[in-house]
Amino acid sequence: MRLPYLLLDIDGVLIPFPDDQGNTPATHTRHDVVPTGRHADDPVTVWLNAADGPMLMDVIRTRLATPVWCTSWRQDATTLIGPLLGLPPLPHIDLPRPQITTSHPNGYLWKRDHVDAWLGDAPAVWIDDDFTSLDHAWAAERTAHGAATLLLQPDPRVGLLAEHLVEALEWAGQLPAAPPCESGAPHGAEAA
Ligand SMILES: [Mg+2]
Repeated sequence: MRLPYLLLDIDGVLIPFPDDQGNTPATHTRHDVVPTGRHADDPVTVWLNAADGPMLMDVIRTRLATPVWCTSWRQDATTLIGPLLGLPPLPHIDLPRPQITTSHPNGYLWKRDHVDAWLGDAPAVWIDDDFTSLDHAWAAERTAHGAATLLLQPDPRVGLLAEHLVEALEWAGQLPAAPPCESGAPHGAEAA
Protein backbone atom coordinates (compact mmCIF):
# COMPACT_ATOMS: atom_id res chain seq x y z
CA MET A 1 0.00 0.00 0.00
CA ARG A 2 1.28 3.46 -0.81
CA LEU A 3 1.83 6.19 1.76
CA PRO A 4 -1.48 7.57 3.01
CA TYR A 5 -2.38 11.22 2.73
CA LEU A 6 -3.01 13.23 5.85
CA LEU A 7 -5.71 15.75 4.92
CA LEU A 8 -5.82 18.76 7.20
CA ASP A 9 -8.69 21.17 7.70
CA ILE A 10 -8.07 24.55 9.31
CA ASP A 11 -11.31 26.17 10.52
CA GLY A 12 -12.54 24.21 13.53
CA VAL A 13 -9.27 22.25 13.61
CA LEU A 14 -6.29 24.62 13.77
CA ILE A 15 -8.56 27.63 14.31
CA PRO A 16 -11.21 26.69 16.89
CA PHE A 17 -14.58 28.37 16.74
CA PRO A 18 -15.48 30.68 19.63
CA ASP A 19 -17.77 29.35 22.33
CA ASP A 20 -21.14 30.89 23.22
CA GLN A 21 -19.36 33.67 25.10
CA GLY A 22 -17.15 34.43 22.12
CA ASN A 23 -14.04 32.94 23.74
CA THR A 24 -11.45 30.78 22.03
CA PRO A 25 -9.20 28.38 23.98
CA ALA A 26 -6.54 30.15 26.08
CA THR A 27 -3.91 28.11 24.23
CA HIS A 28 -4.58 30.09 21.05
CA THR A 29 -3.18 33.51 20.21
CA ARG A 30 -4.48 36.14 17.84
CA HIS A 31 -3.15 36.83 14.36
CA ASP A 32 -4.52 39.14 11.69
CA VAL A 33 -4.11 37.84 8.15
CA VAL A 34 -5.15 39.12 4.73
CA PRO A 35 -6.53 36.26 2.62
CA THR A 36 -6.12 36.31 -1.14
CA GLY A 37 -8.57 38.72 -2.77
CA ARG A 38 -9.13 40.70 0.42
CA HIS A 39 -8.04 44.28 0.89
CA ALA A 40 -5.03 44.85 3.12
CA ASP A 41 -7.14 47.22 5.23
CA ASP A 42 -9.63 44.45 5.93
CA PRO A 43 -7.71 41.59 7.60
CA VAL A 44 -9.24 38.48 9.09
CA THR A 45 -8.52 37.62 12.71
CA VAL A 46 -7.52 34.02 13.37
CA TRP A 47 -6.57 32.23 16.57
CA LEU A 48 -3.76 29.68 16.41
CA ASN A 49 -1.99 27.48 18.91
CA ALA A 50 1.77 27.90 18.46
CA ALA A 51 2.23 24.38 19.85
CA ASP A 52 0.38 22.92 16.86
CA GLY A 53 3.32 23.74 14.58
CA PRO A 54 5.91 21.55 16.34
CA MET A 55 3.24 18.89 16.87
CA LEU A 56 2.55 18.74 13.13
CA MET A 57 6.25 18.86 12.33
CA ASP A 58 6.72 15.76 14.46
CA VAL A 59 4.08 14.04 12.33
CA ILE A 60 5.68 15.20 9.08
CA ARG A 61 9.06 13.88 10.20
CA THR A 62 7.68 10.38 10.72
CA ARG A 63 7.05 10.16 6.96
CA LEU A 64 4.15 7.87 7.73
CA ALA A 65 1.72 10.09 5.82
CA THR A 66 1.84 12.88 3.27
CA PRO A 67 0.26 16.05 4.71
CA VAL A 68 -2.03 18.04 2.42
CA TRP A 69 -4.19 21.04 3.27
CA CYS A 70 -7.88 20.39 2.69
CA THR A 71 -9.54 23.64 3.63
CA SER A 72 -11.51 26.56 2.28
CA TRP A 73 -8.34 28.57 2.94
CA ARG A 74 -6.99 26.78 -0.17
CA GLN A 75 -3.63 28.24 -1.23
CA ASP A 76 -3.73 30.65 1.72
CA ALA A 77 -3.27 27.63 4.00
CA THR A 78 0.24 27.29 2.58
CA THR A 79 1.09 30.97 2.31
CA LEU A 80 -0.64 32.44 5.39
CA ILE A 81 -1.57 29.88 8.02
CA GLY A 82 1.26 27.36 7.72
CA PRO A 83 4.03 29.95 8.15
CA LEU A 84 2.39 31.28 11.33
CA LEU A 85 2.87 27.79 12.77
CA GLY A 86 6.38 27.39 11.38
CA LEU A 87 5.29 24.77 8.87
CA PRO A 88 7.01 24.23 5.53
CA PRO A 89 4.98 24.78 2.35
CA LEU A 90 2.53 21.89 2.06
CA PRO A 91 0.42 21.05 -0.99
CA HIS A 92 -3.28 21.81 -0.90
CA ILE A 93 -6.37 20.44 -2.55
CA ASP A 94 -7.71 23.17 -4.79
CA LEU A 95 -11.31 23.07 -3.60
CA PRO A 96 -13.94 24.97 -5.59
CA ARG A 97 -16.03 27.80 -4.18
CA PRO A 98 -19.59 26.49 -4.33
CA GLN A 99 -22.46 28.84 -3.60
CA ILE A 100 -23.77 26.97 -0.58
CA THR A 101 -25.43 28.07 2.65
CA THR A 102 -24.61 24.91 4.59
CA SER A 103 -21.47 22.81 4.75
CA HIS A 104 -23.63 19.72 4.11
CA PRO A 105 -25.68 20.64 1.03
CA ASN A 106 -26.34 16.96 0.26
CA GLY A 107 -26.20 15.67 3.81
CA TYR A 108 -22.42 15.23 3.76
CA LEU A 109 -19.39 17.50 3.85
CA TRP A 110 -19.25 19.67 0.73
CA LYS A 111 -15.54 18.95 0.26
CA ARG A 112 -16.02 15.24 0.05
CA ASP A 113 -16.77 14.72 -3.64
CA HIS A 114 -13.69 16.76 -4.54
CA VAL A 115 -11.56 14.89 -2.05
CA ASP A 116 -12.90 11.58 -3.33
CA ALA A 117 -11.88 12.47 -6.89
CA TRP A 118 -8.52 13.86 -5.78
CA LEU A 119 -7.66 10.78 -3.72
CA GLY A 120 -8.61 8.22 -6.32
CA ASP A 121 -7.95 4.97 -4.50
CA ALA A 122 -5.21 6.33 -2.22
CA PRO A 123 -5.41 5.68 1.51
CA ALA A 124 -6.07 8.74 3.64
CA VAL A 125 -6.55 9.98 7.15
CA TRP A 126 -8.65 13.12 7.08
CA ILE A 127 -8.94 15.52 10.02
CA ASP A 128 -11.97 17.80 9.78
CA ASP A 129 -14.48 19.02 12.36
CA ASP A 130 -17.50 18.81 10.07
CA PHE A 131 -18.18 15.23 9.01
CA THR A 132 -21.66 13.74 9.06
CA SER A 133 -22.71 10.12 9.39
CA LEU A 134 -22.73 9.92 5.59
CA ASP A 135 -19.05 10.84 5.53
CA HIS A 136 -18.26 8.13 8.04
CA ALA A 137 -20.21 5.67 5.89
CA TRP A 138 -18.18 6.84 2.87
CA ALA A 139 -14.95 6.21 4.77
CA ALA A 140 -16.08 2.74 5.76
CA GLU A 141 -16.99 1.96 2.17
CA ARG A 142 -13.63 3.16 0.84
CA THR A 143 -11.87 1.07 3.44
CA ALA A 144 -13.94 -1.97 2.50
CA HIS A 145 -12.85 -1.49 -1.11
CA GLY A 146 -9.16 -1.41 -0.23
CA ALA A 147 -8.58 2.35 0.16
CA ALA A 148 -7.98 2.59 3.90
CA THR A 149 -9.69 5.72 5.20
CA LEU A 150 -9.79 7.17 8.68
CA LEU A 151 -11.82 10.25 9.60
CA LEU A 152 -10.86 12.15 12.73
CA GLN A 153 -13.23 14.81 13.94
CA PRO A 154 -12.04 17.34 16.52
CA ASP A 155 -14.51 19.34 18.58
CA PRO A 156 -14.63 22.61 16.60
CA ARG A 157 -14.55 24.66 19.81
CA VAL A 158 -11.43 22.88 21.03
CA GLY A 159 -9.63 22.13 17.80
CA LEU A 160 -6.79 19.75 17.10
CA LEU A 161 -5.41 17.74 20.01
CA ALA A 162 -2.29 15.60 20.27
CA GLU A 163 -4.51 12.54 20.57
CA HIS A 164 -5.82 13.08 17.03
CA LEU A 165 -2.33 12.97 15.61
CA VAL A 166 -1.38 10.00 17.77
CA GLU A 167 -4.37 8.13 16.40
CA ALA A 168 -3.52 9.18 12.84
CA LEU A 169 0.04 7.90 13.18
CA GLU A 170 -1.01 4.67 14.84
CA TRP A 171 -3.44 4.11 12.01
CA ALA A 172 -0.86 4.94 9.32
CA GLY A 173 1.76 2.81 11.02
CA GLN A 174 -0.36 -0.32 10.90
CA LEU A 175 -1.18 -0.09 7.19
CA PRO A 176 0.42 -2.79 5.05
CA ALA A 177 3.89 -1.72 3.97
CA ALA A 178 4.37 -0.43 0.44
CA PRO A 179 5.49 -3.18 -1.95
CA PRO A 180 9.27 -3.18 -2.43
CA CYS A 181 10.45 -1.09 -5.34
CA GLU A 182 11.72 -3.43 -8.06
CA SER A 183 14.46 -1.29 -9.51
CA GLY A 184 14.43 2.09 -7.79
CA ALA A 185 16.63 1.37 -4.80
CA PRO A 186 20.35 1.43 -5.46
CA HIS A 187 22.13 -1.83 -4.83
CA GLY A 188 23.18 -2.13 -1.23
CA ALA A 189 20.92 0.70 -0.09
CA GLU A 190 19.41 -1.44 2.64
CA ALA A 191 22.76 -1.93 4.31
CA ALA A 192 23.66 1.75 4.14
MG1 LIG B 1 -13.71 22.95 9.43
